Amino acid sequence: MIAIVLGGLLGFGFIGLLILPRYLGTRRIHAATTAPFHTIRDGSRWLPCHTTVCGHITTRHEPTGDGGWLCTGGGCGHITKGDQ
Ligand SMILES: [Zn+2]
Repeated sequence: MIAIVLGGLLGFGFIGLLILPRYLGTRRIHAATTAPFHTIRDGSRWLPCHTTVCGHITTRHEPTGDGGWLCTGGGCGHITKGDQ
């Protein structure tokens, strides 16, 4: 009986020694990644985009200069006209 208990403890300890370095390594990698930053163009607005690419969600739109708004969501590129 004691051999089974000791075997179990040693077995879990051995598995822990194998897994712990991998766990610590992945934590360091996640800590090193940072959030991406983007420069937002002046005059940009958040407008709903009614295309299949954006699926009616509100995305950032940049002014096109002729009264339109260019959708920047996920490479959509749809231009919305009007005073939205
Ligand atoms: Zn869009």
